[in-house]
Formats: sequence, structure tokens, C-alpha cells
Amino acid sequence: MNMDDLFGQVHSVTTEKTKGPDARTIIACRKLNLPSPPYRMSGWQAMSDGYIIFVNKVLGVKTKGKNKGGIKWGDNRHKAIVLDSEIIADLQAWEVETGKCSTCGGDGQQPAGWSSDRGTLYRDCSRCKTTGIPPTTPIFL
Ligand SMILES: [Zn+2]
Repeated sequence: MNMDDLFGQVHSVTTEKTKGPDARTIIACRKLNLPSPPYRMSGWQAMSDGYIIFVNKVLGVKTKGKNKGGIKWGDNRHKAIVLDSEIIADLQAWEVETGKCSTCGGDGQQPAGWSSDRGTLYRDCSRCKTTGIPPTTPIFL
């Protein structure tokens, strides 16, 4: 399996709230000098002005057991501090570059959870109101 397939598969089984760039993973990996993929955010702790982001290598997807479909993580855990202001700056830059809403990735539908039998669930994008075009309003995290 190549890394693009792996990343796509992993993305589809996680409960992302947005379909734009995974800014927390991207910024944390940039600071840690780790490639993404295969590294990805595996957990986080909130701070007053950002997050402590934990990053592990993605080894694959669990194919059995009660967590079937979940991510199989590598053991080495890395951590980086990612500020809200850094996330917003990355999302704004992505919107300018692509012309797409960073919450829905441009198709007007944002993820609204995941279940093992139904896969990723979607709802109308709260940021662009389904237009897919980034509004001029500030990005809230
Ligand atoms: Zn949107």
C-alpha cells in the first residue's frame, strides 16, 4: 500500500471536523521535522492559546477487534506546541491559495462524525453555508 492510499484510508476513518488542511498535524510535523504522511496527530491537550499536539507514525488501519477501522499507531510519540494563531494563519493561507473554504474543503459539506457502519457523516458547512467559497469572516477554531 502506498502512503497516499494509507493516508486517504486513515483520513476517512477519523472523526475530523473539517476537510480542509489538517493544520494541527501539518504545523506540528513542520516543527518536529517529521514527514506527514506518514506522521499524523494522535492526540492533543488544550492550552489557553493553542494545543500540545501529539504526533505518531501511522502504521496502518486495524483490520480486526473492537477498534476495527481505527488507526494503528507507531509507538514513538512526539509532541509540539501549536498556537491557535499559527493554525488560523495556515488555514487563511490555504484559503487564499486554493480559493476554497477550509472547513469543508470547497464542496460545502463538513464532516459531522463517523460510525463503523455508516462511515463519515456530513452536514452543511457552517463556515461557508455550502457555497465552498471562503467567507470574509474570521476563522474560529
Ligand atoms: Zn465550507
